[in-house]
Amino acid sequence: MTADIAELGEPVWDARSLTSTPVEFELIGPPSALDYPELCARCAAPASRRLLIERVFERRRKNARWEYVVAGARVPFCEGCIAQHDCERPPISFLRRLLLCFRAGAIIPVVTSGALAIFFASEALGAIGEDNAIAVAALTAFSSFLALIAAICLRVAWEKSRRFAVPEPSSVTAAFDFSDDLSELFDSERRRYRLANMPFAKALDRMNRGRIWDAASRVAKRAHRMRTVLAVVFVVACLVVWLRNLFQF
Ligand SMILES: [Zn+2]
Repeated sequence: MTADIAELGEPVWDARSLTSTPVEFELIGPPSALDYPELCARCAAPASRRLLIERVFERRRKNARWEYVVAGARVPFCEGCIAQHDCERPPISFLRRLLLCFRAGAIIPVVTSGALAIFFASEALGAIGEDNAIAVAALTAFSSFLALIAAICLRVAWEKSRRFAVPEPSSVTAAFDFSDDLSELFDSERRRYRLANMPFAKALDRMNRGRIWDAASRVAKRAHRMRTVLAVVFVVACLVVWLRNLFQF
């Protein structure tokens, strides 16, 4: 599917920027696979560390239901820009992140199996007092099994609720934006990047030259030919079925 790049805020302009117009280009591969220059993506100052930038994309599945895909990458920024970002988007606490699992609708098995695990663990403790070794072993094993199920369910709920934990872009992280996967059938994954800082964009472009998407490349043309062949085969197959029904042969 084709997804539009989200609107960015005002492009960043500083003495090292060569233009105030965001730069766009398409690169092959997921954002996490790119090579990044050690420059701040917002102001091109030397980067001190990386920020996780994530975006949520809606995709319509064959059964007409929506699915949400989170894509992200760790992008370099300078200390000043990171401080600005933290001010605008304070890091989410573990408790709040845990509560977000409820929004995914997959938390009930976690609560149920977790409560049962605690119940059987307390029963095992009671059996220790009664000096019943077999009951202790059986209750401990069952409690551990339920705890394992609770942990697996929590992991699933955590992943399902991941999209709720993705913050809106700050004025800092908006300097680096990317689209959903734009590839078509037989293509490799590719995304459009929209960068607000020209020196950073140039450095990123230089370091990922082999990933620049070229619609006129041999690989792209071959994928296009394969799609065309597939479309022709589909049309011919439909025609044959239609003629067969028409003439009853
Ligand atoms: Zn910066």
